[in-house]
Amino acid sequence: KNKVFHKAEPILRTLQQAGYEAYIVGGAVRDFLVGRPIGDIDITTSATPEQVMNLFSKVVPIGIKHGTVAVLQKGEPYEITTYRTEGNYSDHRHPDNVDFVDSIQTDLARRDFTINAIAMDMQGDIVDPFHGRTDIKNRLIQTVGPPKDRFKEDPLRMMRAIRFVSQLGFQLEGKTLIGLSECAHWLDKMAVERIKVEFEKMWAGSFLDQALPIIEQTEIDRYIPVFREKKGRFQKLVPASIQPLAYIYESIALFVLLDSNISIETWTNKWKCSKKEKSNVKRLVQAVQMLEKDGLTNWLVYNLDRNLYTSLVRIVTILKPHCSVTEEDIKAIWGSLPLRNRRELAISGTDLLTFFPVRTKGAWIGRYLQMVERMVVMGDLKNEKTEIKEWVTKWNPPEMT
Ligand code: ATP
Ligand code: MG
Repeated sequence: KNKVFHKAEPILRTLQQAGYEAYIVGGAVRDFLVGRPIGDIDITTSATPEQVMNLFSKVVPIGIKHGTVAVLQKGEPYEITTYRTEGNYSDHRHPDNVDFVDSIQTDLARRDFTINAIAMDMQGDIVDPFHGRTDIKNRLIQTVGPPKDRFKEDPLRMMRAIRFVSQLGFQLEGKTLIGLSECAHWLDKMAVERIKVEFEKMWAGSFLDQALPIIEQTEIDRYIPVFREKKGRFQKLVPASIQPLAYIYESIALFVLLDSNISIETWTNKWKCSKKEKSNVKRLVQAVQMLEKDGLTNWLVYNLDRNLYTSLVRIVTILKPHCSVTEEDIKAIWGSLPLRNRRELAISGTDLLTFFPVRTKGAWIGRYLQMVERMVVMGDLKNEKTEIKEWVTKWNPPEMT
């Protein structure tokens, strides 16, 4: 038992005192036993969703059909799932039917890998019928039960296996690895959204270099969006200098930069990316291209969203263009920018109209403002009304009117 779990204790206690069994289960127990920082704490219980809802004041029935209720504890959500088994995933998203069961052993048996099928109660007692702790000690990932059956039931488990390799640096146990090769084609019918979640987590794992060869070896790339369209594309696109990337939009930006034959549009549509992800891909690709052309200029940093600094650094580190960049470099330039945003510009469109009394409103105003903005950001023009006026009226190229 460890104090990382103390926040979940009141929930476990409430359930236990009401006469139900309650355990922390899944990733939190696994990561605790491995010695990694734990993420979300999932709880499994003998209480039905209705019984759980009656016990807590702040509850959200996020997946009642599948037995899951979220309980808010000090503002943080905890997922509480009733002991259950599950049927087929014929829609490849959710199990068709779940049956509530009354033993923790039966619930653990439906879970994907032995290392994820360990439960721990409030007293720190562990239930581990599939010897997950032995596998943690031996650093092995293996399915609970026959790999082929489990992968056919839910093919996403194959992607999950690879992402756990990437996160934990464990090996795939022999039969599980063979199962991956034999069942890879089941991924064909998988919802892209689910593949994406696992792919993104895989890409971010510290042991990515151990996970990628498994994708090639088992030919899982033949069933992954975009890569599946051309044999060998995965091998071709993943550089030897690869390093972890935190988000799907970073990996897509990297691939676009490595092979411009596949458009950002194609990548983001096939991966069902959100608008935000798509715009991040565009911004990153543009930033890297600007960097390769002109180096780390004021203009580049001015236009780069703060949330993308580390993304840019990660991509540039992999691509290793002649110009290397650190987050400190970017922040230093940001710190010295003569202008932080357009609203700080010393002149407005109305000012431009007074500078050129003979002109009327038109598209030229926007173009002029942009020109001035860029000059000021680059340090070629002072952000001062009189100086800008002088420069603009002198410059005044006819083709810009
Ligand atoms: P993370 O640290 O990323 O949250 P996790 O192991 O907790 O990893 P989740 O997706 O949160 O993964 O799932 C919680 C638990 O539910 C898993 O540990 C596993 O026991 C079970 N589980 C999740 N997805 C599946 C699946 N597709 N098939 C079988 N069991 C699953
Ligand atoms: Mg989890």
